Amino acid sequence: MSSAVNRRNVGAGYRHGGATKVHHPPPTLNDSLDGEVQAFLIDEDQLHTYDDLTKVNPVTPTTVLKCLQARYSVKVFYTHAGCTLVALNPFQPIPHLYSLEVMKEYHCAPQPQEFKPHIYIVAEEAYRNVKGQVEPVNQSLVVSGESGAGKTWTSRCLMKYYATVAASSSVVKSQDTVERIERRVLDSNPIMEAFGNACTLRNNNSSRFGKYIQLQLDRCQLLVGASVQTYLLEKTRVAFQPANERNFHIFYQILAGILQLGNVNFSSSSDESQPCNLDEQSKDFLQRAAELLCVPAEELQTCLKVKMLKAGKQSVHKPCPQTECSMRRDCLAKAIYAGLFEWLVTFINNSICADKSMWCNFIGKLSFHSSFNVCNFLFMSSRSPPLCSPGVLDVYGFECFNVNNLEQLCINYANEKLQQHFVAHYLQAQQEEYVSEGLQWSFVKYQNNQSCLDLIEGSPVSVFSLLNEESRLNRASDAKTFRVRLEKELCDNANISWDKFSKLPHFTVAHYAGKVNYQIQGMVAKNKDPVPPELISLLQKSDNLLLHQMFTDKEDENLSTKELSKVTVVSKFKNSLESLMKILHSTTPHYTRCIKPNPECKPLTFKKEEVITQLEACGIVETIHISAAGFPIRIPFKDFIQRYALITKYSNVKSGSHHVEVKAASNNFLRQEVEKLLRVVLQRRKAFDLSHNLGSEKQNS
Ligand code: ADP
Ligand code: MG
Repeated sequence: MSSAVNRRNVGAGYRHGGATKVHHPPPTLNDSLDGEVQAFLIDEDQLHTYDDLTKVNPVTPTTVLKCLQARYSVKVFYTHAGCTLVALNPFQPIPHLYSLEVMKEYHCAPQPQEFKPHIYIVAEEAYRNVKGQVEPVNQSLVVSGESGAGKTWTSRCLMKYYATVAASSSVVKSQDTVERIERRVLDSNPIMEAFGNACTLRNNNSSRFGKYIQLQLDRCQLLVGASVQTYLLEKTRVAFQPANERNFHIFYQILAGILQLGNVNFSSSSDESQPCNLDEQSKDFLQRAAELLCVPAEELQTCLKVKMLKAGKQSVHKPCPQTECSMRRDCLAKAIYAGLFEWLVTFINNSICADKSMWCNFIGKLSFHSSFNVCNFLFMSSRSPPLCSPGVLDVYGFECFNVNNLEQLCINYANEKLQQHFVAHYLQAQQEEYVSEGLQWSFVKYQNNQSCLDLIEGSPVSVFSLLNEESRLNRASDAKTFRVRLEKELCDNANISWDKFSKLPHFTVAHYAGKVNYQIQGMVAKNKDPVPPELISLLQKSDNLLLHQMFTDKEDENLSTKELSKVTVVSKFKNSLESLMKILHSTTPHYTRCIKPNPECKPLTFKKEEVITQLEACGIVETIHISAAGFPIRIPFKDFIQRYALITKYSNVKSGSHHVEVKAASNNFLRQEVEKLLRVVLQRRKAFDLSHNLGSEKQNS
């Protein structure tokens, strides 16, 4: 049994699996679904009242879908699914759902779990769990779902919740300080979204980076700061946007430090030994860009048009062909934008992190390769003050477009990792725990995505390893050799396939969430992500203090400028994801699955096919099976006896029957509570002899 699971059980305490109502044995109706006749134990008219999908009987994708649809039609957007919360996107503001009053209700309730399902239940559970029983336990709130499903919205709700409840009880700090911290934390969001979000075909405000925000609470559980870690900004968007999509929002508000560069066009020179030419207009743009970057225009032009090759101790200058000049121009723009984003995140962290003095000591050591930030490091180190955190993770959802390339491979790889974390932490650990507790249990099969992860990141041979090797070898025909090697060296893995007749060479990966075709052309180049050393050196010489600092700091890292230009995209991404996984593994996780009810983002429109694909993709049915067939209520017998001793001596519980008798209880309220609990247990049809266990406990005590 993993320690995280232990902590979860200790912290979770009374959890009714979301059951706020106890259903008496429901009427049976016959129905035909999926071509099979099933005896339904659900009352279809009442489906919208089922606030936990574990109550649906039988649990099949279709019944779960029906339940969610019924709830959506009466504007109920949250439903428990055992340990996870399913959040349907209303695509319409529902103001009363997130009001201050509602927040307070959930926060002040002795048992918020008994209220209607809400993201505030998850928030409050994590908030209460932070205290732990012996020492504070870090919590993580993992929000997943496909693009446009509502992850960022949900993360914002969580942040607002903590900024409110963690401050409301403040008596120690002056109102001014408290407000400043909360406001700063909340205000950092729109800034990051302006720079890191863009309008895509799937979401008008699509996050093009992942983020993990750790809210820092002090001993009194007051918010004292926060730290942000970001993952893989899709910087290619600076230079290229797919049809009908837009560049980052910020470009529509400011026009400077980068867009001027995009207007510089090169034309081939008739003599290959001579550099490319610039027309008069491009010369003006280049002049303007150089002024903004505070570098000499002549040098900028040379760096874009001429590359420096080293032969032994000698360096040779070689003019670049037209396409390479354009590539160098785009590289420069992307590097500046990514550097700016990184600087912004650092700046935000600097102003919201709890312990500034410690932060300053480490600021010079900021890692370039991942945006790993110092606060997280301090936070994790045991010598830091007794802070602990609920952390909110909002990463890009699973993506499958008509054309997918390295960006989608990285995004989907991140989703595979998170799915594996979920499977390991919940599905697997929970079942192992039942076995270790000696409970009769037959394993529920679930989709284990290890083989897909092996395919993508495994060693010695995987898509990533081959991609890195091709990137290192710098071959002119990299796409062709990469394709050949994939087919030859990964042919044994069942998760990869090829359509040999397709015009565009691609490979198909069978992800847990579905199959995705990845275009091979351009993948190696994208992975190299070269920032020519000459360009880095140029920016280091900039008179603009910010640019100078951004690019000088990078060289302070252990790698030289030349080595830096060789670090590939996938190895950087893999490293930063691994550090995220380490953080997640050290926390008690809470999962929220956001579902997008229709692809058009229309208000209150529920498309079954769209939803069922997402339910299947996140393995929700397996989760419900395990929760429903398992033990959703976990009360240590000691606590149970303490609470219900008054009644137990009169109780006569017959396990395995649907009939529960609780006789002659002296207190009506308690009798109802026990009845409620026992019914839920028996409804799960577990042959678990409560009376026997209660009896033996009584004897012991
Ligand atoms: P994701 O981050 O998963 O790509 P977003 O969180 O950006 O998706 O949500 C997409 C859009 O859906 C939002 O801009 C908002 O209009 C709408 N939305 C999401 N969740 C809710 C909600 N709970 N209530 C109202 N609208 C929502
Ligand atoms: Mg988002």
